[in-house]
Amino acid sequence: MQDNGLQVAPQKSEAVVLTNKWAYRDPVLTLGGQQISVKPSMRYLGVQLDKRLNFGDHIRLVTAAARRAVSALGRLMPNVQGPSACKSRLLMSVAHSKLLYASPVWALAAARAARNRVALSQAQISAAIRVARCYRTVSDMAALVLARMPPAHLLADERRRIEERKKEPTTVAVIRRQEREATLREWQVIWDHTEKAAWTRRMIPDISRWVYQPNQEAITFHMAQALTGHGCFQHYLWKRRRAGDPHCMHCDEPDDTVEHTLFNCPFWAEDRREMEQCVGRPLQPNDVPDIILGPEQELLPDDASRRRRIEAMAEGLRLAFGRMVEAILGRKEDAEWKYLDSEDFAFFNSSFSPLTYL
Ligand SMILES: [Zn+2]
Repeated sequence: MQDNGLQVAPQKSEAVVLTNKWAYRDPVLTLGGQQISVKPSMRYLGVQLDKRLNFGDHIRLVTAAARRAVSALGRLMPNVQGPSACKSRLLMSVAHSKLLYASPVWALAAARAARNRVALSQAQISAAIRVARCYRTVSDMAALVLARMPPAHLLADERRRIEERKKEPTTVAVIRRQEREATLREWQVIWDHTEKAAWTRRMIPDISRWVYQPNQEAITFHMAQALTGHGCFQHYLWKRRRAGDPHCMHCDEPDDTVEHTLFNCPFWAEDRREMEQCVGRPLQPNDVPDIILGPEQELLPDDASRRRRIEAMAEGLRLAFGRMVEAILGRKEDAEWKYLDSEDFAFFNSSFSPLTYL
């Protein structure tokens, strides 16, 4: 190096031993007469290399950095009336860029350890909750699906596969599309087998249709409640010790779930009228996937004008469902806050803080 006019600073040099051995003695390394410290991990080109190359230290560092970025951005975006989901996703891509830096290098090794996968998705959750405007109590699986964010370990592996295929005789755009579809298939398998988010899985069973849904717009605070069941429902509030019992406040139903509120409670019958006229019968939970996801593209007729008519009808139905959700949950939430302000509730639970779950 000296022949090329370069000088090494021994005091700034460090080393890490890459090995699978559990017991070994650190070598004594000297450079320019000075001993070099041997460390358990060290940073090289932005990646934290640890002695076993399982990248646990790297994941810890990038997840902490992503959490800090999300937290800083989150303070600028209140959940209820913050920026649109598009802007949120743009801002949250900053967090993803921290999380997935150099992922082709570490994706395969890091994803083998469950704790790395959990750490990566935990760092995504607070971003997903901001994008999807849902309660913090929503499961990680539901929040990521609502925010249309594939789990970070799947995204990391997708980038690795794209990098590996770049020499193939096809365009990068085609490779990216194929690999994103492969990621969505993997995500669908996880979604199908999780025991979490039962209601959200019922509302959004097909991840690809949800991710590629046309006319995507910001998920409203009330729509997030309708799709997760976490919101102004006595069943949810009772489970979170925010209500004395799960009984519906508007009828005789002993268990006021999201399903009861949106589809069965007679108190909101007038708010369901438009939807019932659209579908020609009482609305049922099983109708919702087709309403919010739109028609399956491969089932649409080839005739362009028929296709447009069906798509316009589907869009009208989706907007009508949105209006129904806003009408019911908007009024129900008002009733809920009045109850929380009432003396009855103060008597029931004097230690409660209503802002804890928002
Ligand atoms: Zn009711």
